[in-house]
Amino acid sequence: MKLRQSPMADNKTLMFTCSLDDGHPSDMKAFELLQRHGIAATFYVPIKNREGAHILSRADLREIAAYFEIGSHTYDHTALPSLAPALSRFQVVEGKKKLEDILGRKIPGFCYPAGKYRMLDTDIVKNAGFEYARTTINLCFDSGSRMFEMPTTMQFYPHSQAVYLRNFIRAGRWPSRLAGLRIALAHEDWIRRLYALFEHACQQGGVFHLWGHAKDIDELNAWQKLDQFLGYVATRVAPEHRLNNGNLARQISAVLPSRPPPP
Ligand SMILES: [Zn+2]
Repeated sequence: MKLRQSPMADNKTLMFTCSLDDGHPSDMKAFELLQRHGIAATFYVPIKNREGAHILSRADLREIAAYFEIGSHTYDHTALPSLAPALSRFQVVEGKKKLEDILGRKIPGFCYPAGKYRMLDTDIVKNAGFEYARTTINLCFDSGSRMFEMPTTMQFYPHSQAVYLRNFIRAGRWPSRLAGLRIALAHEDWIRRLYALFEHACQQGGVFHLWGHAKDIDELNAWQKLDQFLGYVATRVAPEHRLNNGNLARQISAVLPSRPPPP
């Protein structure tokens, strides 16, 4: 399939993107799998973790950065709505600056810790010089129309159906997420749910955004399941349609003027 000038306009084309949050040392396992299957991805990394979780060494971070996009995840992984605006600004600005110092490159992407943000936090992220931000809104098969509220499709985690229902109610955009909710609720087994959501995306076109935490995948002993899934994705999605989050965001921005407002 040939990439068109405005690929978002072709609703049968499926774009696949992937993101890993928190910069856990086991991100190196994801790095190896993604590289082997030729899947593009973004790793969102804080400088420290206030909950005490380990962070990738600088050498490992640089190794990942040589092949994948690195995004910021605040300075010490604090949920922004718990902070006064000045402290939220510190977390956003300092996390970006430190990461840029380590990697010697501009960091265009940001991800909200725990998926939590206020409207003022989206402005802080924008004013800090980021180009886009990822949320934890799930069950979307498009990349949205708001550069600082990029949604996802599914977390690589065995959430209960009740969690899917709660996320659905809380996060809005209901008309475009209803098909995903139906599929999520129809499959109790989370791996079957993953494949069913992906199959829907293959048929409908749009975007499939898988995200997760390497620490969870360690605890679930699910690296082989991820390996199999990424191998399957590579058979269904053409290499030119496997994008990191930043490249996907740039496509949203390229088509934004002609897109209708969000529901
Ligand atoms: Zn996080």
